Amino acid sequence: MTEFPKSPLMGQMMSQPLLISSIIKHADRYYGSNEIVSRRVEGDIHRYTYRDCHKRSRQMANALGGLGVKIGDRVATLAWNGYRHLELYYAISGSGAVMHTINPRLHPEQIAYIANHAEDMYLFFDMTFLPLVEAFAAHCKTVKGFIAMCDKDRMPAESKIPNLMCYEELLEKNSDQYEWPLFDENSASSLCYTSGTTGNPKGALYSHRSTVLHSYASAMPDALNVSARDSVLPVVPMFHVNAWGLPYSVPLTGAKLVFPGPALDGKSVYELFEQEKVTFSAGVPTVWLGLLTYVGQNNLKFSTFKRTVIGGSACPPAMMKTFRQQYGVEVVHAWGMTEMSPLGTAGTLQSHHMDLPEEKKQAILEKQGHAIYGVDMKIVGDDGKELPWDGKTYGNLLVKGPWIISSYFKNEAGDVLQDGWFPTGDVATIDADGYMQITDRSKDVIKSGGEWIGTIDLENIAMAHPAVQQAACIGVFHPKWDERPLLVVVKKPGAEVTKEELIKFYEGKIAKWWTPDDVTFVDALPIGATGKVLKNRIREQFKEYRLPTT
Ligand code: ADP
Repeated sequence: MTEFPKSPLMGQMMSQPLLISSIIKHADRYYGSNEIVSRRVEGDIHRYTYRDCHKRSRQMANALGGLGVKIGDRVATLAWNGYRHLELYYAISGSGAVMHTINPRLHPEQIAYIANHAEDMYLFFDMTFLPLVEAFAAHCKTVKGFIAMCDKDRMPAESKIPNLMCYEELLEKNSDQYEWPLFDENSASSLCYTSGTTGNPKGALYSHRSTVLHSYASAMPDALNVSARDSVLPVVPMFHVNAWGLPYSVPLTGAKLVFPGPALDGKSVYELFEQEKVTFSAGVPTVWLGLLTYVGQNNLKFSTFKRTVIGGSACPPAMMKTFRQQYGVEVVHAWGMTEMSPLGTAGTLQSHHMDLPEEKKQAILEKQGHAIYGVDMKIVGDDGKELPWDGKTYGNLLVKGPWIISSYFKNEAGDVLQDGWFPTGDVATIDADGYMQITDRSKDVIKSGGEWIGTIDLENIAMAHPAVQQAACIGVFHPKWDERPLLVVVKKPGAEVTKEELIKFYEGKIAKWWTPDDVTFVDALPIGATGKVLKNRIREQFKEYRLPTT
């Protein structure tokens, strides 16, 4: 960690470490009776308050101590968004151990790799994942015990999982008398692995300080804009970059928390939105497709839902328009990554934009947004030289800030910083007002005749066609141009469109040479563990594809 010089005159403010436990203490003391509602794995709805959550987190902290978990030890979870998972967020990190959320959508072998790499000491899991845990438990070298997150009567009669314990039983045996310990705010608090689309997953190890600062910044009005008057339903999973920090930023503001559990289909999410008067939500574009299809097919409206943050992959402008124009829901487009805790930018307007015509405002909102305070960014060419902020010149996007990694856990991949900046692997433009727009991930860019074609634009245009549900664009081999764009399309149920119609749809919307050479229709696109379209899988699938233009 970089040391900085000390001034001969230091400030005279209290020295109090920024610790995660302070968030749940605050939520209990000042918003104690505000609710946390969860749809459980069991199917029923569970409700309690921040006060109850704090009490049970303290009991769990005692339980962890009893199991021998010490400061710095890693404790893993494989769980949906729910109240027990939230208790663990506070019990594990609050007591000084490291909360390691594992993505249950990964392959069992990959999960075992991650648990071994992290040297997890215990692993908590929702009962949905019992068969999954049975599949990899024997391969975990450091895990001393597995804890099923359920009541005593739900425990399996027999299981081959070694040292299997019951969450509620463990809690019951422990007192709620517990003082959250004080320690250095730079201590590790939680660990998330990147999805590892290329190579093995790598861990981003957050600190208490980085997490608390990220929570403050992300709750601000031009970011997630969460307040004590909101009812917040994080659709983004708690195993995907800590649900974008919502398990911290929501209790910090005192808003009501609503957890969807495993039921992420359009109908279940919609019902919970209405029943719990949800005002704000967050998730990747693919999950909103399900909700919008359900709401559209059943001619429904949202009574309280006002705002959603969409990120993780580019939010198609067509989705933004549907939310705003048909349902009166404001969409904030956000960008970030696991390595950034994750929030980097959010797209909202400023006062000098207010008189602009609607299409101009919309064009600004479609970008990934401006940096939130705490994050700095720049774009550079391959020579590392900074490029201008003109909204046109694109380059490699670099970031820095107190909640951005300086290296991966156990120094995997070695020195990753370039002159103190983290290279995101994204290609972007930044305009004169500081709004950043992602052109593509550098590995997805299509290289055609020595020039670059960004696939996000091509996909967004296709998804604005009324017959298109989802689209992905990839570069395929071309003898003259190296690569040319192939558009892979999933049609909306019952809708029809031809390849020629789609190619014509691009006319006047982009430079002619960007137009896809061909269109192919598929039933579904491959979706990865974090709900994103797997471009590498599509590239693999169409490796031998011969374009009609070759
Ligand atoms: P991974 O997919 O590697 O597990 P993340 O979930 O951290 O990890 O993904 C980060 C990447 O997702 C970014 O580098 C960027 O390519 C992409 N991404 C995130 N938000 C957006 C967005 N709003 N628009 C376009 N791409 C995005």
